[in-house]
Amino acid sequence: MFATSRKWLFLMKFEFLPAPNPLNIAPEEWLDWRWQIRQSLKSRLDFAKYFELSVNEIAAFESMKEAFKFQTTPYYASLADAKNPADPLRKILMPTVNEAFSATQEMLDPLGEVKHSPVPRIIHRYPDRLLFLVTDLCSVYCRYCTRKHFTGKDQAFAKSKEYQEALNYIKKQKGLREVILSGGDPLTLSDSILKKVLSDLRSIEHVEIIRMGTRIPVVNPMRVTPELVEMMKAFHPIFMMVHFNHPREITSEAAQALLLLVNNGFPVMNQMVLLNGVNNHEAIVQALSRRLLYLRVKPYYMFQCDPSEGTDHLRIHLDESLRIQRELWGRMSGLAVPHLSLDIPEGGGKVGFVPNFQTRRDGDDIEFQGWDGIQATYINPPREDNQTPSDIQTYLNEWNLVKNQTYGSKTQAQENFKEVKTKLFPDVHT
Ligand code: SF4
Repeated sequence: MFATSRKWLFLMKFEFLPAPNPLNIAPEEWLDWRWQIRQSLKSRLDFAKYFELSVNEIAAFESMKEAFKFQTTPYYASLADAKNPADPLRKILMPTVNEAFSATQEMLDPLGEVKHSPVPRIIHRYPDRLLFLVTDLCSVYCRYCTRKHFTGKDQAFAKSKEYQEALNYIKKQKGLREVILSGGDPLTLSDSILKKVLSDLRSIEHVEIIRMGTRIPVVNPMRVTPELVEMMKAFHPIFMMVHFNHPREITSEAAQALLLLVNNGFPVMNQMVLLNGVNNHEAIVQALSRRLLYLRVKPYYMFQCDPSEGTDHLRIHLDESLRIQRELWGRMSGLAVPHLSLDIPEGGGKVGFVPNFQTRRDGDDIEFQGWDGIQATYINPPREDNQTPSDIQTYLNEWNLVKNQTYGSKTQAQENFKEVKTKLFPDVHT
């Protein structure tokens, strides 16, 4: 059905083109993920090899260097337009002085992660799941990153004491069912370190699901090797949460990385962020979603961009996001429509949005107008006719455990908050 070279991939419906390799690097180097990391662009001079830099961009390399690290793989840089500063992919990876402008709202830690960190490297916000920040390194530093308080600080893999402390914390949380490996990007770790992390987590009886948040299939897809996938699949179930923002990011290299994952039993879900001038149009979201779905990747979340420091120029109005979501609704299969979601600033958790199709309510009767204008009333049956399923007892104990679960971290996190905050942000008052 398709060619499996790294050069080209045609999957019946869509053609996925290889990344351009504009400097004609020898293929054995260009397609080597280690070469891509070694040759990462980190300075103005590095970026200037791939881009005609604008005055604004040149100034940013000097004025923004303390704010947030610059780095991309040559592979990802090659996907952006070398000459046009307004190019959508260029806006993701290229610093601009816009990051310094005073913002409508900006926070170093918009998700309130520091106050939900009971021990270093752990963020525990919800009772049944937590984030384990295994590394702060990424292959690209996205200009809109929500975790600028942690990523790109060159701390790399957790030190042995921190790692053990985080693992002990996970072991003690008996109500925990899911661990999300994040960072940074867990797939920047070596196979052997990753194997140790996965094996340690799998030895904890109450951990049911492992999730891995990664942008590697987008920015260095050659890292997804058959050896890596073979090693990881021994620790299933592992869900891969990838992060494609634009259809041009799905090259033949990226498509083959995704196929390698899904063919080896990894459910792959995409989390995109709506970004100003990058993907804030329904035509782009549909093109991205259809291609991903065709590769058996579920378009999962479409996030409102968090008010992270220096991101005002990349955020869009929530009304615009809602309009995009409404445009997609009904015109595309539910499988292809990502959920629009926003994180309440200061760690309030996620809230989802669905278009409001209700036009009138009269007691128990509710009138709706659908996506294509058809209007009708849904008449509810009497509430008194509700019956509880007869086998409910089988599931009630389990549910009550989930529902009433609290987690020991909460008090501890609050106690630790002051200390951690003072250490990390001596000048920040929250
Ligand atoms: S890959 Fe993720 S964590 Fe890393 S900079 Fe981009 S958004 Fe932030």
